[in-house]
Amino acid sequence: MLLIGPPGSGKSHRILEAVRDRLRKRNAAFRLLVPTSTMAEHVRHSLAREGFVFRPDLISTLTGFLNSLEPGVEPLSPVRLRFLVRQSLARLCPKVFEALREAPGFVTALASTMEEAASAGVDPGRLQAALDPALGRIPQAFAALYADVAAQAEAAGYGFRNRLLAGAAARLRTRGVTGIEEVFADGFFSFTDPELDFLEALAGKCKLTVSLPDWPGAKSAWLRLALAGLKEERLEGCRRQPEVELVEAETQEREAEEIALRILEHAARGVRFREIGILVRQHDPYVPLLSSTLGRFGIPVRAYFSERLSDHAVVRYCRALIQAALSGWDHEKTLAALAMNPSGLPGRAEFERFARAVRERLPGSGLAGLRELAGQGAARKKLDGLAALEGWAASPATPEEWSKRLAQLAGLVDFKALAHGAELSDALAFRQAAAATEAFERCVEEAASVLPETPVDLNAFWEEAEAALRITPLAPLDRRRNVVHLLEVHEARQWELPVVFVCGLLERQFPLHHAQNPFLDDEARRELQRAGFRLATAAEKDAEEEFLFQFSLTRATRSLVLSYPRFNAEGNETLRSFLLDRFLEEHPGIPAARARPARPAPNGSKPPERLPRIVSEDLAELLAKERQPEAPTAIEDFLQCPFLFFARRTLALEEAPARPEQRLDALFEGQVVHKVLEQCLHRPGELGRIFEEVFRRYCSGSGVPPGYRTEAVRLALFRDLRRFVKKLRLEGAEPGLAERPYTLELDGGLTLRCKLDRIDTVPGVGKLIIDYKYRTLNGVKELTKERDPVVQIQAGIYMAALEQAGETCAGFLFAALRGEQGWAGWQITKKPVKGAAESKPEDLRAIMQRAAEAAVEAVERIRQGVIAPKPADPERCETCAYCDICRVESAVQVAVAGGETSE
Ligand code: SF4
Repeated sequence: MLLIGPPGSGKSHRILEAVRDRLRKRNAAFRLLVPTSTMAEHVRHSLAREGFVFRPDLISTLTGFLNSLEPGVEPLSPVRLRFLVRQSLARLCPKVFEALREAPGFVTALASTMEEAASAGVDPGRLQAALDPALGRIPQAFAALYADVAAQAEAAGYGFRNRLLAGAAARLRTRGVTGIEEVFADGFFSFTDPELDFLEALAGKCKLTVSLPDWPGAKSAWLRLALAGLKEERLEGCRRQPEVELVEAETQEREAEEIALRILEHAARGVRFREIGILVRQHDPYVPLLSSTLGRFGIPVRAYFSERLSDHAVVRYCRALIQAALSGWDHEKTLAALAMNPSGLPGRAEFERFARAVRERLPGSGLAGLRELAGQGAARKKLDGLAALEGWAASPATPEEWSKRLAQLAGLVDFKALAHGAELSDALAFRQAAAATEAFERCVEEAASVLPETPVDLNAFWEEAEAALRITPLAPLDRRRNVVHLLEVHEARQWELPVVFVCGLLERQFPLHHAQNPFLDDEARRELQRAGFRLATAAEKDAEEEFLFQFSLTRATRSLVLSYPRFNAEGNETLRSFLLDRFLEEHPGIPAARARPARPAPNGSKPPERLPRIVSEDLAELLAKERQPEAPTAIEDFLQCPFLFFARRTLALEEAPARPEQRLDALFEGQVVHKVLEQCLHRPGELGRIFEEVFRRYCSGSGVPPGYRTEAVRLALFRDLRRFVKKLRLEGAEPGLAERPYTLELDGGLTLRCKLDRIDTVPGVGKLIIDYKYRTLNGVKELTKERDPVVQIQAGIYMAALEQAGETCAGFLFAALRGEQGWAGWQITKKPVKGAAESKPEDLRAIMQRAAEAAVEAVERIRQGVIAPKPADPERCETCAYCDICRVESAVQVAVAGGETSE
């Protein structure tokens, strides 16, 4: 029997009724065939929940059924196919593919075109015969590769899907099928010619019922099945008439939140989560977005999508370990690998200390050096566990041996034991990790099986294994029942739900737009069609999108919500799906709504309000004693931002050590400049020697590797210093002391310590302080502006310290050394250096006074426990090391909303 009708006309219902009837009569002489394993599982579960008990193989995929018929040929797996494609590419070397051979995705594109051709029944011989040479070199080169791959596969006893179908059909015709009287095929949109050959063979041996939707893409299939003798029955009309609503959202995020809001509203009206489905056309971007959004709203969701095995945390960990081994245990790579442990880091604090010690000594390689730094704790245990891998990179082994060795890697994963009463999400993650471990082992085994048995090195074996991991799917193990179903449109063929959302209705999202195949373009496909092969052109694939859209509208029985975002992530206006436009034109009066702003309710009780200050008196007293600011730079930190002071000075949080190539930073440059100028002050003629010696010493002390950037920094520093040294002496002043320490006692028992870069003597006036800055002149001028207390603290404190030591201050000058050089500051003289302000003693005293008052006030607020993130110069937040922990963004948002960010 052939059931034909539009989507939603009851074809699946009729077939499932027939299946129920057989099950009620305990008749197991039937099979129900569906297109995907997820669908088979869905039907099995639905029937099981109705109380039917049956063997799982009664409901299976067409592929599973074929394999059970022993077609006499092994299926050509994707891993083996890609291996054969690479072999053929290397052997035949078609000139036209020469430049693309190593391009990412090239082998996969070739392999999937071969699979498509084979599935349509276009075997290599027929392809070569049907292709006109005038079509160009690419189809010809593809046909030659395809023939070579098929020949290699056949010689090894493997075949494409068409050979499996032909083998199974031949077997059916000669031997029949035992124990099966009736077969149902449901959920297929159409059939390829080899599948139709097989169904014809099946119809000759048992009763066959096939359902097909009424759309142009299925026409040739149902005509052929009708000619094969299947009695046609038409089912008319769509029996579902759900309420349809259109939702326009500003962004995808808002669209997802509106869906979550509506699901909660349905749930409040008594709709169970499992009665709700969301249909998307492809995985990205909606599956991750909806999964996380619904999760935030506390809505259980199950996504019926496989992930790539190579993306699972267990596999990424194993891959990182192998890459570390291949690099000779490069310390940075090994550290990164250890930190990827899927169950988190054992002994986290200890590991962080170990990681810090390793980073400080980068670059480095070899496990021995890491063991030395690891001490005796968890990190050492982990490194000892890697000892077995130590010799791997050096010695070749057979692929089989490699697969056994790599399988041991999973043993290095620390699976966190599940506590009694663990969260369901933890249990699911645990099961998925176990499945990924098994799949990893199977995958490396398969990679070994496709390679010749001769020894290869780890690199060569891993290349094959990694390619296999990338193309192997990892099916989700989520079996929860009362969840919202997140489905790809094809997967929804046997789903019928009261509430359905179809989202992302944008051009190129739904519908997708199909490009021409690069190996068999539309011209070649039309030629093949003329020769009797059904290989779809891009236009025909685009037409299928329209069918998928119409089909998605038939999945809801009560409520259907169609939605799209108006703007993309870049803020540009999107293009609404033309299919949706046409649907709205044909169905005027569909209510439209805008997505509402939504925010999930907190999971638990409201957290206590954060007080951005230390309130404990004991703690404040302790901090007053032990974390007093001692340097003007500490006061500057507090004045820039109390949280910056708290993190850097009170908690003494250190920034992560810079990578070797990033160590030539402003701090490094400043240290070199100060040291060189200190030594050159009285020996400017020796600049070259002093600079080389200081630069080399600092590079080796900081672990800066030689290289282009190091040389560029060296040349730039030397160029700037050489120019500056020429104007080292100031007119009317004698260079005196360098790097001289002073202290300043202030009210409230506060003592500040400072080190003055240089103190010149101005005869008859006093001492002139000079502070070197490896900055541009404009940057240095900023330091003398009065608008901000932060910028004048240093000058005021230094001058006050000098005077407190019994000297008379003649001024304070900043020297700008980078690029355009110059001076800025205050000088008591009638003829100040260009850039400095002519000042009187009272001007200097005013600066000292302001700085001292600001320092005393800052210390008072520090003692009061003020730690709020409140930057005086928000632009400096961009380079602040604590920006990830201070939550300055939320503080700013509160301020924008008119709230308080009080201390
Ligand atoms: S990022 Fe800004 S607000 Fe945050 S600690 Fe640094 S300076 Fe303060």
